[in-house]
Amino acid sequence: MPPASKLSRIRNIGIIAHIDAGKTTVSERILYYTGKSYKIGEVHDGEAVMDWMPQEQERGITITSAVTTCNWGNSEIHIIDTPGHVDFTIEVERSLRVLDGVVVVFCAVGGVEPQSETVWHQADKYGVPKIAFVNKMDRVGADFSRVIEMMRERFSSIPLPVQIPWGQEEKFRGVVDLISRKIITWDEGSKGAKYEFSEIPEDLMAEVEAQREKMLEAVAEVDDEIAEKYLGGEEISEKELLQAIRKATLAVKLVPVMCGTALKNKGIQPVLDAVVNFLPSPEDVPPVRGVHPVTKEESTRISSNKEPLAALAFKVMQDEGRKLTYLRIYSGQMKAGEELYNASKTKKEKASRLLKMHANKRERLEMAGAGDIVAVMGLKETTTGDTICDEANPILLESMEFYEPVISQA
Ligand code: GDP
Repeated sequence: MPPASKLSRIRNIGIIAHIDAGKTTVSERILYYTGKSYKIGEVHDGEAVMDWMPQEQERGITITSAVTTCNWGNSEIHIIDTPGHVDFTIEVERSLRVLDGVVVVFCAVGGVEPQSETVWHQADKYGVPKIAFVNKMDRVGADFSRVIEMMRERFSSIPLPVQIPWGQEEKFRGVVDLISRKIITWDEGSKGAKYEFSEIPEDLMAEVEAQREKMLEAVAEVDDEIAEKYLGGEEISEKELLQAIRKATLAVKLVPVMCGTALKNKGIQPVLDAVVNFLPSPEDVPPVRGVHPVTKEESTRISSNKEPLAALAFKVMQDEGRKLTYLRIYSGQMKAGEELYNASKTKKEKASRLLKMHANKRERLEMAGAGDIVAVMGLKETTTGDTICDEANPILLESMEFYEPVISQA
């Protein structure tokens, strides 16, 4: 059986926010829309959306596992649960190690608050690429440009609005996508599952063009090819622009910023597109580093199924009375039923089951490979921070650095 999915289509992400900014609501909407979502104009069964929603609401789709897998287009997104409170700084750091990119949620009224600022800096320390979502655009006092200003003042990576809001507060109607020059609106009847791209109205055009110029200037600042075209007055295609923004996001120079209101079901699907377009796949991140357990010689593993197995246990949870060990596989492959070598404990243990956790189901895997994040049953001795690897090619993945928790000012 081939590995679970192609590496370039995997996104291992976390969603981080200051408490109350809307992380839970955003996560729930992501799970809802990835479970069932239609663009207006596609073949769809409207009834199915309506029938499905109340049932799911009753059950409550929330992230209860350390990682939840969802699918968006051809991509497989693994959402790694990150603790929302600054008191758990060590846990945040641990989860930042196993994810490849983050979505930072801000409140359109509160802007950059202490916890989001702390986590942002932590992500910077690990060189984790980010995109930002300014939530609660419907609230009284919502101010997109003020949040952007706050980001500019406090962070070294530069915020890049790739959208502007169409209206604010109670007049928030949707967003203008500056890259495609289209307005995106959501159908309230479908709880935002259906959304539509349309032409920008005449009276908004001047503002959109001005904001788009600003975006192009910012991209030109960090990308020579775009700079050349921009200064030469040449047309820059949507594809070129997306590629340049991706490159700058991966290099942690720019942070694409979007906006919406999770509660009122507007703005989430473009964030999923941005996760795919701008955040890294496991192939895009530098090789994981470690040392040989005996010789202490440094070595690295590139993200490939062909390399010897190297995986990090980053979370251990009890689930229906059974122990689930969550592993991030950096290289190589593992099979269900196989004996796995724990280099930290110098012990072998049988992985009785490999599971991929979805919002409302768990999928049994025969095999998992580089870039995957899986829950493993049967690893009785393995604890958080242990390395699972090929016994013949052992490695201890970089030991966790621990930091004093930062006390929130809030
Ligand atoms: P978390 O603490 O970051 O996980 O935030 P929650 O998702 O629990 O949201 C905190 C509060 O803000 C809840 O009462 C939500 O209903 C509310 N909320 C979330 N998103 C929005 C939004 O887009 N607009 C408004 N007005 N309220 C929101």
